[in-house]
Amino acid sequence: MTRIVVLGGGFGGMEAIRVLERRLGDRPDVQILLVSDKNYLLFTPLLPQVASSLVEPRHIVQPIRDIRGRRRFRFRRDRVERIDLDARRVHLAEGVVDYDRLVIALGGVTPTFGIPGVETCALNYKELEDAILLRDHLIDLAEHADHEPDAAVRRRMLTVCVVGGGYTGVELIAELQDFFTSYIVTRYRGIEPGDYRLLLLEAGQEILRGVHPTLAERARRRLWHEGIEIRTGARVTRVEPGLVDVGTEHIAVGLTVWAAGVKGHPTLAGLAAERDRLGRVVVDARLQLPGHPEVYGVGDAVTIEGRPEASIPIIPAALAHARLAAENIVAELAGRPLRPIEFAPRGMLVSLGEKHAVVEVMGLRFSGYPAWLFWNALHLYKLVGFRKQVQVALDWGLVRWFPRDSAIMRQPPRCPVCMHVPAPRQRDAA
Ligand SMILES: Cc1cc2nc3c(=O)[nH]c(=O)nc-3n(C[C@H](O)[C@H](O)[C@H](O)COP(=O)(O)OP(=O)(O)OC[C@H]3O[C@@H](n4cnc5c(N)ncnc54)[C@H](O)[C@@H]3O)c2cc1C
Repeated sequence: MTRIVVLGGGFGGMEAIRVLERRLGDRPDVQILLVSDKNYLLFTPLLPQVASSLVEPRHIVQPIRDIRGRRRFRFRRDRVERIDLDARRVHLAEGVVDYDRLVIALGGVTPTFGIPGVETCALNYKELEDAILLRDHLIDLAEHADHEPDAAVRRRMLTVCVVGGGYTGVELIAELQDFFTSYIVTRYRGIEPGDYRLLLLEAGQEILRGVHPTLAERARRRLWHEGIEIRTGARVTRVEPGLVDVGTEHIAVGLTVWAAGVKGHPTLAGLAAERDRLGRVVVDARLQLPGHPEVYGVGDAVTIEGRPEASIPIIPAALAHARLAAENIVAELAGRPLRPIEFAPRGMLVSLGEKHAVVEVMGLRFSGYPAWLFWNALHLYKLVGFRKQVQVALDWGLVRWFPRDSAIMRQPPRCPVCMHVPAPRQRDAA
């Protein structure tokens, strides 16, 4: 019996499972097991719309057992704690599993770069729970600001700072702008349009690195036109309750969201393998771990030696890796030669809130409303499951006639992320 184990039920892991199942699913001598700590696949491109209350959280996830349908692979919801390469064994929170072939698809995490306060005083923005928490914090702040008599305090409460000018940070801040203009200022009578401030901080000299410069410039102009402040070359040095420090400057904020890139998965830190400067595990061009050809790595968790263009943390790259890893396992079992990765991104789509986007696809570049329509159509099509597609399409349609939902799901704890409790340190804040 050949035991193939896939770790991680995200884009990479699910695609590897799909191909393995198609190619080996009817072989009685092959057992396929998926292990993931979540029992659903999260469609990350729609996370900003969960944060802005446009789309219901449940509508952007698909339960793995529903995706599986009648397929044969087994699924175990468990947390990977350690991989023993020599014993070919994965240690889980609730036991161990042994493997003959392993696909590592655990994704990445957002780096804090060791900056003080990021862990405790900024909201993370990666998982579904993060987007729900962010939404609840924003609404909670609006509820407090609504009856705050002092205009300066109100504005400070409603200052949202997003750190990271990549496409995740840009899409989020554009979506928040829509949320404030189309919902908060219309529903909360104590909040005026000038009471909120949205700030995007990027340490590098440009936003949307990796996007064609013409489109990145169009996106920048669009955000600026919408009143979003963008500061490049702004390296955050400390985050505190109600404050973000950029060098010696102290910026008063109500909420800080950390969306600054991707680094390797911490569970893989103990793996006896080479890592790049971002902590991602290095695999060779056939996606095998050097010295351990039975182990394959895909998606955000890995970097491919000598192939930076194929190692970027986006969904198409994770899917391409996963397909190749699965095909190479099939080839290996059949005694055929393995293939190297051939992937280069063929475009980029960045949503800039309602009715605007920038798109580059197969050499074609466009922006504005047509790009927004294209963005919507493509993401609706890519969403897994017809029911979810209908639910998201309805969410998008209903918002034209009905207000967004501002019921707070989980009352945010009186945590130090929000500036109003506890009181921020008294300093000369900008
Ligand atoms: C907010 C946001 C928006 C994005 N928007 C886009 C976009 O518009 N277009 C695009 O191309 N890319 C986008 N991305 C990037 C894209 O989501 C990733 O590149 C992609 O998900 C990588 O796939 P993966 O399989 O490597 O990792 P993931 O999809 O992250 O999957 C990792 C899986 O492993 C599981 N896991 C993690 N740790 C453990 C553990 N210890 N034990 C068991 N299971 C574990 C996780 O629960 C998850 O199911 C976005 C990312 C974010 C955060």
